Amino acid sequence: MKKPVIIIIATICVAAIAIAQAVLERRGSAPSQLLEIFDVEGSSAKARLTINGEQIFVTNVFIGEYGIGKQREGDRKTPQGTLHAKRAFGILPNPGTKFDYIRVTPSIFACGDREYYNQIVDTAALHHVCTGEDMYHMGPDYNYGLETDYNSECIYKRGAAIFIHCKGNKPYTAGCIAFDQDRMIQILNLCDTSLVVTVRP
Ligand SMILES: [Zn+2]
Repeated sequence: MKKPVIIIIATICVAAIAIAQAVLERRGSAPSQLLEIFDVEGSSAKARLTINGEQIFVTNVFIGEYGIGKQREGDRKTPQGTLHAKRAFGILPNPGTKFDYIRVTPSIFACGDREYYNQIVDTAALHHVCTGEDMYHMGPDYNYGLETDYNSECIYKRGAAIFIHCKGNKPYTAGCIAFDQDRMIQILNLCDTSLVVTVRP
């Protein structure tokens, strides 16, 4: 084979790789399941669910009492940036979600202790006097919910139990994102672990 032919083939190969990378990057920037939190005003915000480019809904949600930009436990802020949903949970039975579903019983706690920090634990199995959230008694807020990957390294006091859950009696949360229950069921039943959640001002 002559040198110019080899150079042409090599150039085509390099171009093909560049195109493939560009396609992959574009896919990365446009997740198939996207839940955007935006238009923050105090402890209220808008939320838009988009699946495969189609808008499913825009709705009003409650966020942390002091808005977004979570830094540490107790700051009552919702994390800003990108989150992923890990598992679903609920006091009520699984509405039909593809997520792994933790049925919340009286022994299920969102642990805030050093030992199992930022983990949903069954105290019937992991015996300790849990000072974390008694999830079964969180009222309608935890009828349905989703665990996020906020502080998935479980660094003590960086913040725990950042969930997406149902609205309760108050127009704010301690750092979670709260939806009307029918919207929460829609999210659970239309999405899976590929769901990407973005939070911006
Ligand atoms: Zn505990």
